Amino acid sequence: MTIKKINVILFAAAIISLCSCNAQKNTNDKSSDEAFTRDVFAMDTYMNLKAYGSNAESALKKAENRISELEKTLSVTSEGSDIWKLNHSGGEYVSVSDDTIELIKKAEEVGKETDGALDITLYPLLKEWGFTTGDYKIPDTRMLNELLNNVDYSKIKIEGENVTLPPDVEIDLGALAKGYTGDEVISIISSCGVDSAIVSLGGNVQALGSKPDGSDWKVAVRDPFAPETDMCVVEISGKAVITSGNYERFFTGDDGKNYWHILDPNDGYPADNGLVSVTVIGKNGLECDALSTALFVCGYDKTIDYLKKHPENDVILVTDDKKVYYSDGIADKFTNISDMPAEVIAVD
Ligand code: ADP
Ligand code: MG
Repeated sequence: MTIKKINVILFAAAIISLCSCNAQKNTNDKSSDEAFTRDVFAMDTYMNLKAYGSNAESALKKAENRISELEKTLSVTSEGSDIWKLNHSGGEYVSVSDDTIELIKKAEEVGKETDGALDITLYPLLKEWGFTTGDYKIPDTRMLNELLNNVDYSKIKIEGENVTLPPDVEIDLGALAKGYTGDEVISIISSCGVDSAIVSLGGNVQALGSKPDGSDWKVAVRDPFAPETDMCVVEISGKAVITSGNYERFFTGDDGKNYWHILDPNDGYPADNGLVSVTVIGKNGLECDALSTALFVCGYDKTIDYLKKHPENDVILVTDDKKVYYSDGIADKFTNISDMPAEVIAVD
């Protein structure tokens, strides 16, 4: 069984409307407060963009064009994309876009910082499990071990705009492409003179500034044990709230167990290190997205080690024994609305 992912939703209907209306006027009728929304289906997910002010409509059009462009560049399945070309390059170098270079470099950086928890060369294993097609199966361990021989992001060579992969290495940027796309969308909207906007890219929520009245946006995070309901609300301005969870894309095997789409590069099986949901909150959507996947693989203790070195990012963690932990930096912006106990993470 699969659950189509919308892992984070916006808490109040007033924040973002999921209807497909092109424009809605706010009741006070100030043109600077006029809200425009656009619904987009791209990157295999539903996206909703909302911006306020007189330039909002044209800003959202430009943002949508950029999303289409990035989808064409970064898709692992579209023939002719940078990633498709790399995965079919037979060891020859491929000249790729700046976007692709930036994403590969970020993946390498976060891979290094998390002891290889993030590894974009896992793609052949994701195919073997059927996560790329929906044709799921539990692979045998020997096959996984064989495929793991070619999993190692340090085999990716970058020289200027040229990237080379060894013949049996294939990559996929699914762990971080939406975060990068969100950053690009926010930056385009901002460059059009808009200073208040909120976007949801398949549940990755990213905000430009605050709400038009100056207050924080309220973003709800899903309960991984009851994905139809929310477990907490976090208040943010100018930040990204990005979640990776074991309930987002999974199947139930013949053995009755659930298998999900985030794999542990240590053994090629779905990462099962004590965390069932990781939300990362920070200024850089690309980094938050890469980290949400990586820290999900790392588990609780390694995540705390990471936070000690990187206090600029905040997290909300849910453990498999149904407890919620949130970092000190968001303590006064966090409201638990679940039955689970929630406590601040003690970092030292
Ligand atoms: P989603 O894209 O569903 O919001 P994530 O950001 O956590 O969730 O990314 C999950 C995707 O990342 C998977 O669908 C797969 O393409 C890829 N992936 C899975 N495990 C890893 C990993 N350990 N390192 C890098 N990429 C991974
Ligand atoms: Mg991610």
